Amino acid sequence: MAEKRHVILGAGTAGINCIRTLRQLGDTGEITLISAERPYSRMVLPYYLNQSISESHTETASARQLLAWKVKTVFGRKAASLEPGQNKLKLDNGEEVEYDDLLIATGSSAARPPIPGAEGPGIHTFWTLADAKAVNKQISPKGHTVMVGAGFIAFTCFDGVLGRSGKVTIIEVAPRILPRMVDETGARLATEWLENLGVRVLAGVRLKSLQPVDGKTRLSFEQGRGFTADTVLLATGIRTNLDWLRSNVSWVEGGGLKLNQGIVVDEYLRSSVPNVYAAGDVAETRNLVTGAQEVHAIEPTAQEHGRVVAANMAGRNVKYAGSLLMNIVSVGGLDMASFGSWDDGNAEAITGLDPRRHAYRKYLFRGERMVGAILISPSKETWLENDVGMLKGLVQAGSPLGGWKEFLRKHPFEIKKPFLAARTTAALIPRTTLGAPTPSPRA
Ligand SMILES: Cc1cc2nc3c(=O)[nH]c(=O)nc-3n(C[C@H](O)[C@H](O)[C@H](O)COP(=O)(O)OP(=O)(O)OC[C@H]3O[C@@H](n4cnc5c(N)ncnc54)[C@H](O)[C@@H]3O)c2cc1C
Repeated sequence: MAEKRHVILGAGTAGINCIRTLRQLGDTGEITLISAERPYSRMVLPYYLNQSISESHTETASARQLLAWKVKTVFGRKAASLEPGQNKLKLDNGEEVEYDDLLIATGSSAARPPIPGAEGPGIHTFWTLADAKAVNKQISPKGHTVMVGAGFIAFTCFDGVLGRSGKVTIIEVAPRILPRMVDETGARLATEWLENLGVRVLAGVRLKSLQPVDGKTRLSFEQGRGFTADTVLLATGIRTNLDWLRSNVSWVEGGGLKLNQGIVVDEYLRSSVPNVYAAGDVAETRNLVTGAQEVHAIEPTAQEHGRVVAANMAGRNVKYAGSLLMNIVSVGGLDMASFGSWDDGNAEAITGLDPRRHAYRKYLFRGERMVGAILISPSKETWLENDVGMLKGLVQAGSPLGGWKEFLRKHPFEIKKPFLAARTTAALIPRTTLGAPTPSPRA
C-alpha cells in the first residue's frame, strides 16, 4: 500500500508537535508542511523582547531537523481554499496540494481595534516574530510606551516593555485590568503592584483615535484628556485564522467542514470531514472541567492537540481527554495564575487574601471537587512555583478533596497538604496525552 500523504497547514506549536509525534511514532508517510511563516514559538517572543534570548532561540524546528524528518516544506504561502470532496487544498499562488489527510493548524492573529489610526505607522501588535522585531527596533529606554489592552497577552510581554521603556502606561476599556484572567480582588492587587512599579494604569477608558504627530503618536479618548506616546502596543484581542475557510463558499454549500467559534472536531480531533483534522487555536475541543466545546488559545492545548492528531493520522485511535484552561504570567515580579472555571459564578468560592504580602488565593468548588483557582503572589516567594503546579494538578485531576476543603477554608495558603492527601500525583501520572509515556522532545 502506498504511504499516506499527510499535509500539515501551519508551522506553529500544533503543526510542529504533530510532525514530531508522527515521526516519533514511526509513521513513514509523506509529510508536506505549508505555512505562512517558518516554525517558531510565539510564546517565547516576550523573552526575545526582554533580550534574554536571541532570534535563533525562538525557532522550533530548524531546516536540518525538518530534513531529518523528511518533511517537504512550503513556507511563505497561505492556504486560500479547501475542496474536501476532492482532498485538495488551494494555496494563495493558485497551486493545488493533494492530501490523504490534512491538519489545519493556522492559529490566530492579533486583532486591531476598529478606530482611526490603528493601522498607522509605529502602532504595533505583538503576535508574530515580525511584530517583535518591529517593537524591538522602536522601543527606547527614554520613550513612553503605551499598552492598549490589559489582558493575558499584554502581560506576557509587559516585563520586556517595562525593562526597555522610560515610562509605561496601560489602558484598558473594561473597568479593571485582566478581566478574563482574574477576579476584581486579583485585578486590584495587580494594579497596586503595577502602580508601585511606577506604571500608570487607566481602566475604564475607551480609545477613540491614534494620530501621528511629530514622530510620536497622539492618543485621544472618549472621555478625559489625551496624551502622546513614542511606542504604542495594541493587545486588544485575537481572532482565529479561519477567514480563508469561512469565505470559501463551496464547502459551506456542500455541507463540508463545520465551523463555530473554531473548527468543530470530535474526540479524535477530526472535523466533520473525517480526513481533515484541526488543532491548536483554531480547534474547538472539550473543556476538561466543564465538558463544553470551546476554543482554548493556549500553548499546552496546541501541543496536546498536535500530538493527538499525529497519533490518529498514524492510525492509533487516540481520544483527546480535554483542555484545561490556564493562564500563568509574571508581571514585574508578581506571579499570577488562573485555572479551569476560575470565574464560575455558581461555584462555591473559598478565598484567602494577605494584602501586606500581595498574596491572594481563590478556590472554586463544585461539591468536593476543585473546578477552578486563582493564585497571586510575589515571584520571590519561593514556594509559589510549587503552588502553581499543585493548583493546576488539583483542578486537572478533579479528585474529591473531602475534609481538605474545610482545611483550605481555614488555611487558604497551605495547598500542599490537600494536594498530597488527595493523591493528586497518583491520579495524574497514568493520564498521558497519547496513552503512553512521552518520549523526550529531542527524540
Ligand atoms: C506574545 C505571545 C505570548 C504568549 N504566551 C503564552 C503563554 O505564556 N502561555 C500560553 O499558554 N500561551 C501563550 N501564547 C499563546 C500561544 O502562543 C498559542 O496558543 C499557540 O502558539 C497556538 O499554537 P497554534 O499552532 O495553534 O498556532 P500558531 O502558533 O499561531 O501557528 C499558526 C501557524 O499557521 C500559519 N498560518 C496562519 N494562517 C495561515 C494560512 N492561511 N495558511 C498557511 N499558514 C498559515 C502561521 O504563520 C503560523 O506558522 C502566547 C502568544 C503570544 C503571541
